[in-house]
Amino acid sequence: MDDAPPLKILCITGWCRNGSTIIGNVLNEVPGVFHVGELHFLWKNAAGRGANDSCGCGLALTECPLWSEILPLGRPAGVSAEAHAATVVRRQRACVRTRHTWRVLGRGLHGAEIREHAALMTRTYRAVADLTGARVLVDSTKIPGEAALLPYLEGVTPYYVHLVRDPRAVAQSWSLPKEYCYVMPAGTSTAYWHGFNLASQAIVRRHRERSVFLRYEEFIADPAGTIDMLLRLCGEDPAGNPVRGRTVDLHTNHTVTGNPDRFRTGTTVIRDRDDTWRTALPVRARLTAAALSWPLFRRYGYRYGGTLRTGRVRAATPSAGKR
Ligand SMILES: [Zn+2]
Repeated sequence: MDDAPPLKILCITGWCRNGSTIIGNVLNEVPGVFHVGELHFLWKNAAGRGANDSCGCGLALTECPLWSEILPLGRPAGVSAEAHAATVVRRQRACVRTRHTWRVLGRGLHGAEIREHAALMTRTYRAVADLTGARVLVDSTKIPGEAALLPYLEGVTPYYVHLVRDPRAVAQSWSLPKEYCYVMPAGTSTAYWHGFNLASQAIVRRHRERSVFLRYEEFIADPAGTIDMLLRLCGEDPAGNPVRGRTVDLHTNHTVTGNPDRFRTGTTVIRDRDDTWRTALPVRARLTAAALSWPLFRRYGYRYGGTLRTGRVRAATPSAGKR
């Protein structure tokens, strides 16, 4: 191992449509911080077998100046990009799906496939840091099995954000087709919400000292305070916080998939409400989401009759143990 300082990975975990893309892209504006997007999907998407093959910069992943350098890493001589991607995806499915989270937490690098996957992830993160000059990489993959693997990567120090959003708002988001995003019924969305959040809880309980529990609703109530808190979590200076009030200037990013809003650049106002589900989500779907997310729904502070009460985000106190 070389003498490089440990690379910090700020890992956002939880279930999709939880606001991780905008939080990651705001952090991407901080000097020394780089948002990779959902890195887990790099190989599958670049091979054209994922939801979309575009980088946040607008180019195909295979043509992006960053990812075109990264994708060949670990590919044996004579193996096509497509065959290499298939191997990576097979290892991911075998080792780091959500249901593997507890096995990874308990047994670490317990077999050849997971060791090979860990080696590729280590090499990939380090190469991204070298090419971008970043000290902190934000990974919004959100797959708990990948998150659980991070402490086993050589030269990496992970920090965790367990990010949750009201399952009714999540169900509403999944009900709307949007560019490359498909739709999902409220029951399915909430079943995933429950499983991904349970697994995320297991991770942050294991690593309380380097984790925070964050509700998306807290971010939109106090975006600047939330970004301050996340920077302090990973030992970075909040002076680099780019949010002024509710406004942030977003520049081109190089995210691997995520919410299609990732392509937006320029002055962006972070909205202060997240309750369109109240009028747009059918009552049946609303009740389904609340019922299937029980008891986490209540533990996370959500209520049937109202939205979460939020105030200013507390400064950098890991709160995973306070649920
Ligand atoms: Zn790019």
